[in-house]
Amino acid sequence: MKGDAGECDAALSRIDCIQIRGRTFFVKRDDLIDPLLSGNKYRKLYRLMQVECGQCQRIVSYGGTQSNAMLSIAALCHQKGWQFHYTCKPVPERLQHHPSGNLKMALEFGMQLHEVAHDEYEAAILALQSQCDELSLFVPQGGADPMAQQGIAVLAQEISLWRQQNKVEMLYVVTPSGTGTTAFYLAMALPDATVLTTPAVGDKDYLLAQMRRLGAAPANLKILQRSKKYHFAKPYPELFAIYEELIDAGIEFDLIYGTLMWRTLLQHIDHFEGTILYVHSGGLTGNETMLARYRRQGFIAS
Ligand SMILES: *Cc1c(COP(=O)(O)O)cnc(C)c1O
Repeated sequence: MKGDAGECDAALSRIDCIQIRGRTFFVKRDDLIDPLLSGNKYRKLYRLMQVECGQCQRIVSYGGTQSNAMLSIAALCHQKGWQFHYTCKPVPERLQHHPSGNLKMALEFGMQLHEVAHDEYEAAILALQSQCDELSLFVPQGGADPMAQQGIAVLAQEISLWRQQNKVEMLYVVTPSGTGTTAFYLAMALPDATVLTTPAVGDKDYLLAQMRRLGAAPANLKILQRSKKYHFAKPYPELFAIYEELIDAGIEFDLIYGTLMWRTLLQHIDHFEGTILYVHSGGLTGNETMLARYRRQGFIAS
């Protein structure tokens, strides 16, 4: 079986092959599509990219201050000449004085940040959508929106073509979940494959509730249980160990979603006989601030 990109020229990303603990894994390199609009954010914002510059003046969104979605939207708005208004909770003082990582880059792209006090945040984000006029587009946190379906369907077509060309019989497609939007639409678009995911935010019930907003959960979507509770975006030595193991295997993954997905996948791997295709969800720009946190907490020698 071969997995080189030359076989499907139209694909936005190639498929690589890595060996981990004696097993072969294929990796869809969506991290390489674009340095800023990378991974599943590129796929989820695909439809926005098709909007002509003059048809919109601003994007309105909200969420965390190191969010990958935030940076991707900021980069897109910069390309399109659109304003980007982003509502968040108060920025921690350290970050306010020394913006770093995704926040720094998004601000450099002209993102206008609107900080709202914790107790006013819920009301402020509820009001955002109604404040939009016809030249504004509202994007929910993390790009969790039906508009994501179109770009993820393109990803699914690329996967289906590769599968046909390589005569893959039993296929598992693996990708980590925040809002679950990517895994949900991938499973819908690939009814003959099984999509495996794990929640990086909250637990399985939280993820199912998020997905229910998009529709009834497809039967071919499986949520793998993590071995313990992980707080979102917190450093854990065992996740750093996986990060290094993956780098040794040849590919860097993000330290929030990717490492947790790989750890969970490897714990359950004996249940899955067949071909495994991991969809790299990008997010590498966030590693700078995550590595700094690992260093501050003494998990890596500086
Ligand atoms: C946003 C993000 C996810 C989560 O995607 P959802 O569609 O919200 O589930 C996973 N991995 C990375 C690297 C991300 O940036």
